[in-house]
Amino acid sequence: MTLKKTDPEKAIVEICSCIKRNNTFLVLTHEKPDGDAIGSQLAMLIALRKMGKTAEGITEVAPEQYQGLPQFAILTSAEEYKMSVRPDVCIVLDSSNFARTPVDVLPEGICVINIDHHGDNALFGELNYVDQNAAATGILIYKLLSRLGVEFDEEIAENLFAAIITDTGRFGFTNTNAEVFDVMAGLVRHGASPVEMTNKLYKNYSYRRAVVFSKVLNSLESHINGKVVTMELPFAVVREMGIEQHETDGLVEYLQGIKEQEAAFLLKEFLPGKIRVSLRSRGKINVMMIAEKHDGGGHFAASGCTMKMPLEEAKKVLVEECRLQMD
Ligand code: 5GP
Ligand code: MN
Repeated sequence: MTLKKTDPEKAIVEICSCIKRNNTFLVLTHEKPDGDAIGSQLAMLIALRKMGKTAEGITEVAPEQYQGLPQFAILTSAEEYKMSVRPDVCIVLDSSNFARTPVDVLPEGICVINIDHHGDNALFGELNYVDQNAAATGILIYKLLSRLGVEFDEEIAENLFAAIITDTGRFGFTNTNAEVFDVMAGLVRHGASPVEMTNKLYKNYSYRRAVVFSKVLNSLESHINGKVVTMELPFAVVREMGIEQHETDGLVEYLQGIKEQEAAFLLKEFLPGKIRVSLRSRGKINVMMIAEKHDGGGHFAASGCTMKMPLEEAKKVLVEECRLQMD
């Protein structure tokens, strides 16, 4: 686990000065983007453009519930991206390392700013604003934009609202603290409507998505007397329905509601023998430690990794890892 210390206060001052003196920005976030990734990226892009900067953002396909966020259409794919001017600065958001972004390499000499809240952040930027006490990267963007003197509008407020409500599991995960509510109050004052945002993010999925969910829910299993619960999406189902990665966002939350469980795993086989796992803990089991053993990472209570083995074997390995931690 990388837990090098950074000084958030010093970083924020240096980042403000770097943003002010440069003109052209590329804003990236992690692969398989979630609400915090997309919301933070859009808020940053809107703010930079309001400051008169040239700013572009690249993303992989986002889950459908985030595609209706304000200014979503300004994001492009890595294939489409052709900035006419070479960026001076690349801002990477919500990503533990550069390899998790959809960009392979940056041209030489571009300054990289790394803004994140993951405990395993590799501090890969020239400037690193990394604070693992922040519940979401959206919180750090709120603080940065406030410091930059950006005038918050409804579009920025809604994007940051989405970032924070999703990364805190609607204010129910262990990362939810008083700061979250301070920032949310500010966002509501700037025009983000809790009811509209909830409708947009949580009551807005397609029938197809519900069918995908039903297939996965059917695979529910209990291990170690219900302390560990799993669900899976085998390759046969992925192929039959043509399911894409972004269509399973949020599914693992169903498992987290089960009162007996201490750890929950959703195993997704998008390619045969390559199992993408979402790991979640109620607070006692450290799932980041398990994810890191398989070249993944994230947070103590929410992590991800990819396991190259048959689905049944991956499930056994995960259950055994939990058994070890519970002994
Ligand atoms: P999810 O299960 O939603 O894909 O990911 C849960 C958390 O773990 C998120 O904070 C995500 O950024 C992080 N995460 C997911 N996959 C990886 C991975 O392969 N490497 C690292 N370092 N973090 C990951
Ligand atoms: Mn995040």
